[in-house]
Amino acid sequence: MTQTITGGCLCGACRYETAAEPLNIRACHCHLCQKATGGPFYARVQVPFDTLTITGPVGWYPSSDAILRGFCPNCGTTLFSRRASGNVIGLAMGSLDEPDRFSPTEHIWVSSKQAWLVLADGLPQHLEGP
Ligand SMILES: [Zn+2]
Ligand SMILES: [Zn+2]
Repeated sequence: MTQTITGGCLCGACRYETAAEPLNIRACHCHLCQKATGGPFYARVQVPFDTLTITGPVGWYPSSDAILRGFCPNCGTTLFSRRASGNVIGLAMGSLDEPDRFSPTEHIWVSSKQAWLVLADGLPQHLEGP
């Protein structure tokens, strides 16, 4: 029995939900994710894109050839990272209605990690992608 995953942006204009189980849950420390989120890293829950229902406006832009970023055009909240080729999308963990429901299982691109950030959770750390 799968529990629905729901979330949305800060202003409430954009909402999303999926009944899928997460494919993986990662914290990415790459420079693109730092820029895109404005935060020190990007933690996201990846689900199949075709399971996701989005209600409301989303702005999309390519942050690389591989990834499209999705945000609320009203409040600017980072919501999604969608793989351009492939049926997967990342949900920004800070946008989940239950942000503590999931935990990352690994860190990726720690070669770009901000120096002050000490990872003491014992999770696998990949210098680049997994
Ligand atoms: Zn918004
Ligand atoms: Zn990244």
